[in-house]
Amino acid sequence: MRRHDKRTRAQRKADESALFAAACLGATILLIVISILATSAQAVDAEPEGAPIVEEHDPAWDIPATESAVCNDVFLGEFTLTAYCPGRCCCGKWANGYTATGTLATEGRTIAVDPKVIPYGTRVLLIWPAGTQHSYISEDCGGGVNGNHIDVFFNDHQAARIFGVQSAMAYLEVGE
Ligand SMILES: [Zn+2]
Repeated sequence: MRRHDKRTRAQRKADESALFAAACLGATILLIVISILATSAQAVDAEPEGAPIVEEHDPAWDIPATESAVCNDVFLGEFTLTAYCPGRCCCGKWANGYTATGTLATEGRTIAVDPKVIPYGTRVLLIWPAGTQHSYISEDCGGGVNGNHIDVFFNDHQAARIFGVQSAMAYLEVGE
């Protein structure tokens, strides 16, 4: 049932124009607000200090280190490795079981080095291409041990012979 409109024609016209004016005012205010917001947004963009610097995640940094040399270690380079025993077969007249620095030659610890390349008493970490590694102490020298050459001590001549000639990366262990 349609409700009877008691307003006169003139009143309805006045109401309509009032409504139109209100709508216009509303639209104007809306435009002003939008333009203010846009201006303030531009102002924020223009200020580089205002925006926090977000670093992009680079998955390349997630790759774990395959070698366990720590950051203090000094990379010496690639070394040729040979092996020797305390017998006359390897040491000739020096075959007394003692190293050039006076220590008792010990398998798993003693290596002979060129002291001009690696100073005596240095902890040397060897890392083989397959990833295996061992820490030694440079405490001996040898007639044929020059430059990037390390002679690894073994108690048994046969073990030294089996070791043969290898290659490994050498690190000077600092701070241990
Ligand atoms: Zn030998």
